[in-house]
Amino acid sequence: MARIVLNNIAHRYASSATAAGAADSYALKPLSHVWEDGGAYALLGPSGCGKTTLLNIISGLITPSQGQLLFDDTDVSHLPTEQRNIAQVFQFPVLYDTMTVAENLAFPLRNRRGSNKLGNADIKKRVDDALVMLGLEHLAHKKARSLTADDKQKISLGRGLVRTDVNAILFDEPLTVIDPHLKWQLRTRLKQIHREFGHTMIYVTHDQTEALTFADKVVVMLAGEVIQTGTPEELFRHPQHTFVGKFIGSPGMNILSCELAGDEAIVEGCRFALPTRYPALSGNIELGIRPEFIRLVDTGKGAPVIVTAIDDVGHHRIVRALLGRQLLDIVVAEGVAIPANPGVVFETGSIGIYQNARLVSASFAEKTT
Ligand code: ATP
Repeated sequence: MARIVLNNIAHRYASSATAAGAADSYALKPLSHVWEDGGAYALLGPSGCGKTTLLNIISGLITPSQGQLLFDDTDVSHLPTEQRNIAQVFQFPVLYDTMTVAENLAFPLRNRRGSNKLGNADIKKRVDDALVMLGLEHLAHKKARSLTADDKQKISLGRGLVRTDVNAILFDEPLTVIDPHLKWQLRTRLKQIHREFGHTMIYVTHDQTEALTFADKVVVMLAGEVIQTGTPEELFRHPQHTFVGKFIGSPGMNILSCELAGDEAIVEGCRFALPTRYPALSGNIELGIRPEFIRLVDTGKGAPVIVTAIDDVGHHRIVRALLGRQLLDIVVAEGVAIPANPGVVFETGSIGIYQNARLVSASFAEKTT
């Protein structure tokens, strides 16, 4: 396993490069980042934000336009893929149809050369282990072509997991073609495998549930940029960017246009107490509050809202409301009455203030007032 370090890595595809240096032509904007040895990471973001580009730079399928890539202290920026000792699992199965399941799993092991070459007994042991890991023992001697799409993708996963000496295992949306129930099982299995073997794993997805359930650390990307790295808890409690607030959570964070007045925010003429005093800030100023941290109160108390819909999702309800012209989602526990003409109260400590989409840290606010 290895610690993977990106030093000022950036990438522009030749076909999309406009004026040299134009920031908007980067598929991946200049990025420095460390993937710790043995970490389970998810790379999360919407389609086209640069996740696959970043993964392929690490595996060597793409040579970045700039920057340096280190595995531990070794500069691998110019090493070809086969010398990086990386396992990569793609969105669609990559298998040899005419080989059996066991032969497919053995293939990445038989291909090794020099001091890394394995004997037949070692290969058999690792293949058997991989079959057990993924519950494929009964299919070991079946030809890959006769398998279902789900089983084929399991074997692709197995081909990534069969090598124990890799620097990292990279997964590029590996469960997209998998049946939803099996998806959940496989994700849990991957997490167990990570705990057991401690591989450095990077798992690309645009699905927040997949990212949050698989990873210890989630790296959130938007438009070619990493906008926050944190544990699932940190992303939920302290989104550094309005995109993270909205993308993580179900429903996502409420982001309300506001004005600041010292230690209060004014939203649609209503005043909300803030956890600290803020200086006058220029640009687009917004207040972020998660639906879980808003309370509905009786008429005449709190800021008045109009309820437009109530979605019952089983263990709680999501109240959709209008605060002036701005939409607000509020999570209300089962059994709690919803007043006919309610007001809302925001939990002060859970409010974030965002300037041009970025969180203004409370310590910055304190220092500058
Ligand atoms: P998805 O989830 O849809 O796979 P992604 O987050 O993995 O998206 P990338 O595939 O890395 O994003 O693409 C990042 C940007 O680079 C996108 O704007 C995409 O259109 C562009 N891009 C990707 N591959 C190429 C290519 N070969 N040539 C030119 N532009 C490309």
